[in-house]
Amino acid sequence: MQEIILIKYGEIILKGLNRHIFEDKLVRNIRTAVGTDARVYKSRATIYAEPAEGADVDVLMQKILKVFGIVYAVRAAVCEKDMETIGKTVLSYLNVAGRKTFKVETKRADKTFSLKSPEVSAEIGGMILDAYPHLKVDVRNPEITVNVEIREAGAYVYAEKQKGQGGMPTGSAGKVMLLLSGGIDSPVAGYMMGKRGTCMDAVHFFSPPFTSEKAKEKVLDLARILAQYTGGMRVHIVPFTEQQLQMKAKCPAEHLTILMRRMMMQIACHIAADTGAGAVVTGESLGQVASQTLEAIGVTDACATMPCFRPLIGMDKEDIISIARRIGSFETSILPYEDCCTIFVPKHPTTKPRLEKILESEALIDTEGLIQKALEETIHVDV
Ligand code: ATP
Ligand code: MG
Repeated sequence: MQEIILIKYGEIILKGLNRHIFEDKLVRNIRTAVGTDARVYKSRATIYAEPAEGADVDVLMQKILKVFGIVYAVRAAVCEKDMETIGKTVLSYLNVAGRKTFKVETKRADKTFSLKSPEVSAEIGGMILDAYPHLKVDVRNPEITVNVEIREAGAYVYAEKQKGQGGMPTGSAGKVMLLLSGGIDSPVAGYMMGKRGTCMDAVHFFSPPFTSEKAKEKVLDLARILAQYTGGMRVHIVPFTEQQLQMKAKCPAEHLTILMRRMMMQIACHIAADTGAGAVVTGESLGQVASQTLEAIGVTDACATMPCFRPLIGMDKEDIISIARRIGSFETSILPYEDCCTIFVPKHPTTKPRLEKILESEALIDTEGLIQKALEETIHVDV
């Protein structure tokens, strides 16, 4: 039986004159996601993915359902546009026999087809009842809805819609730079920005030998998981050992966390500007740790040279974890490798830093020189 995947999108329909630009982006993103495993094209507010010969349609569905901008996708059987064939296809392709109640819904895009939609539904319904007399029609709350679409190219038969990510197509909202640690939060923050249509690069700070090669690999794995949703991604890996050691040697211990966060912010903004990103993104959530108080965030933002978005700012950890599980990053995030943030944490970090005080501490080190050095030593990995 020949199968096809029908893909429906939502919000981008609202975009008026820009609509076709958004649709074309979505089609391109789906093509990138499926590669040579399917032929992808658009017709009348539906995108079609025709599986290539031998392609695994389950795997294809999984890839497609990760693309931002899709409301739902369905696997459908394709058949000839005559009632007998459609009826046979419904009975053989869909598991109607295993249910107690059903209804049939028909869409007739091909207006030359001789029967009207309600007539098609009634006739197919009759065939189902003939084949399985134990079934009943229930138009309000059926166990299965049998969908029949009559299009120019043929008839499509399907039942279960699978929910997509929603959101906007990647690339429709510019580019951001995600500060990606190995934790639970930052991959979720990246996912949420990506869902609104941004493409992204990531920057990761690591401090060998205090952080291990495994910790770095874990971050690249997280980037690969995110990239399944956002298309490709470049990870900028910044060696951060000397910077941290200097701060530790020269600055007051209680300021270390905030000083480190300010330096990360400045380096991230530099890399963001160099790569054409218009904002940086972090996984901070208000009050979660000492550096995520209003005061600390204010002092960190004071050195940012572009907007810093924190999509998790008002979320509880539990909610963040449930998204992490759903998008598939949680299991990797909880692998127990150290982060450079956690190795130099002071016992009693300032939770209400004052900018003047922090600037005094910052003056004790060669901030500009250390930022330059970090930028020169950054390596780039495409995932
Ligand atoms: P996460 O779960 O994302 O690690 P967290 O709860 O551990 O966050 P922090 O360690 O204070 O909180 O980090 C806050 C944010 O700073 C992270 O969400 C991330 O965006 C950024 N960040 C922290 N450490 C790094 C790092 N080593 N490289 C890049 N960004 C980092
Ligand atoms: Mg962390």
